Amino acid sequence: MDIRSLFPILDQTVYGKPLIYFDNAATTQKPQSVIDALNSYYTTLNSNIHRGAHYLAAKATDCYEQTREAVRLFINAKHSHEIVFTRGTTESINLVAASFCQRFLNNGDEIIVSGMEHHSNIVPWQLACERLGGHLRVIPFSDEGILDLNALENLINAKTRLIAVNHVSNTLGTINPIAEIVKIAHSHNIPVLVDGAQSISHMAVDVQSLGCDFYCFSGHKMYAPMGVGVMYGKEELLNEMPPYQGGGEMIKEVTFEKTTYNELPFKFEAGTPSVGDVLGLKAAIDFMNLCGIDNIAAHEKMLTDYASQQLREIEGIRFFGVAPHKTSVISFLIGDTHPYDVGTLLDKLGIAVRTGHHCTQPIMDRYKIPGTVRASFAVYNTREEIDLFIQALQRIAPMLQ
Ligand code: PLP
Repeated sequence: MDIRSLFPILDQTVYGKPLIYFDNAATTQKPQSVIDALNSYYTTLNSNIHRGAHYLAAKATDCYEQTREAVRLFINAKHSHEIVFTRGTTESINLVAASFCQRFLNNGDEIIVSGMEHHSNIVPWQLACERLGGHLRVIPFSDEGILDLNALENLINAKTRLIAVNHVSNTLGTINPIAEIVKIAHSHNIPVLVDGAQSISHMAVDVQSLGCDFYCFSGHKMYAPMGVGVMYGKEELLNEMPPYQGGGEMIKEVTFEKTTYNELPFKFEAGTPSVGDVLGLKAAIDFMNLCGIDNIAAHEKMLTDYASQQLREIEGIRFFGVAPHKTSVISFLIGDTHPYDVGTLLDKLGIAVRTGHHCTQPIMDRYKIPGTVRASFAVYNTREEIDLFIQALQRIAPMLQ
C-alpha cells in the first residue's frame, strides 16, 4: 500500500521545495478517507443526534454510536459507555480534573504529576487544587528523560488522591512504564489518569492490560479531524463523579427544583457534540487498523533510528530525551543556537519542524534551555525525507555557530 499517496496535503511544494512534514507530534495530516468521511457527513447525513424522530437523526446517531464502539475496540475498554467524546486531550483532562476532584479532593489532599507533563496535564490539576485547597507533587526524571519511580513511591502518602502521567512525553519521546506506575498506585488504592495524546497513534493501547483508570487522547494526533477527543474512564469511577458541564443530552429530568442526570456516557456529553468529527475519528481508526498499529510502530522506529544515527554526525548537536524506550520524537539543539533560528531556516527549505517549549516549560527549566527543535515522524514519512533533513541541517549548522 502506498500510504503516502493517501494524504493529499503532502503532495505540494512550499517555497518551491517539496513539503517535508515533521511536525506530527503537534498534529498529523489526514488521509483522504477521513476528509471524505467529513464531506460525506455534511453532504448526506448532517443532523443533530439522539431523540430525533426522523431518518437523518437516527442514522447520524447510529454512526456516532458505532464510533464509540470502534473506539472501545481500539483501546480495548470493557464497556462502550466508558468512552466519552470530548474536543480533545485537554478537554478530557479538564473534565476529569474538575469532576473527579470535586468528588474526591479535599482540603490538603495531593495530586501527583510528573516533571515531563504537557501543560494540559498540569494546569487543570492546579486549577482544581486552587479551588479545593489541594497540592501538586511532581515525579522527577533523569537527564536521559526517564521517570524516577523510586521517587514516586516516596511521594505517595495518605493524602494522595490521583496520579496523572503521560504515556509518552511530547518533548522527550519517552514511553513511560504505565503498567508499573498503575501497579504502584493501585497498591495504595490511588487511581491513575494517563495522558495518551502522544501514544495513541504510535503503539497498541490496551486500557485493561495497562490497568489505568482514565485514558485521554485527541483525534487530530491520530489522523482524525481536529475537534474530537476521548476520555476513557472506568465505569465505577465515572458513576461516582458529578457531571462536568450542564445542558443538552446529560440530563434525565429537569425541573427548577431539581435535575437528575442521564446514564453513562451521556452524563458527560453536554450539548451538541462535533458529530462530523466523531465520524472522521471512525475513518481514522479504520485507516490505522488497515495499516496495522504494529506496522506503523515498526516503520516509525526505523525512521527514528535512521534519523538519530545521522543526526549524531552533526557538529555540536545536543539531544534531549534519550531513553531506550521512545517513540518517533527527536528533540535537539545545535550548540547554543536558538531553536527558532534552526526552525526558520529549515522552513525555507520546505521542512516543517516545531521549535520552542512545546507546552512543557518545566522540562525546559529542568535542562535550563529556552526550547528545542523537535522533529516527529508519522506513518507517511520516508527515509528520503530524513536524508534531505540531514542535508539541510548540515548546511544550516555552520551558518549558525
Ligand atoms: N498532552 C500531550 C502529551 C500533548 O502532546 C498534547 C498536545 O500536543 C496535549 C496533551 C494537548 O492536546 P490537545 O491540544 O489536542 O488537547
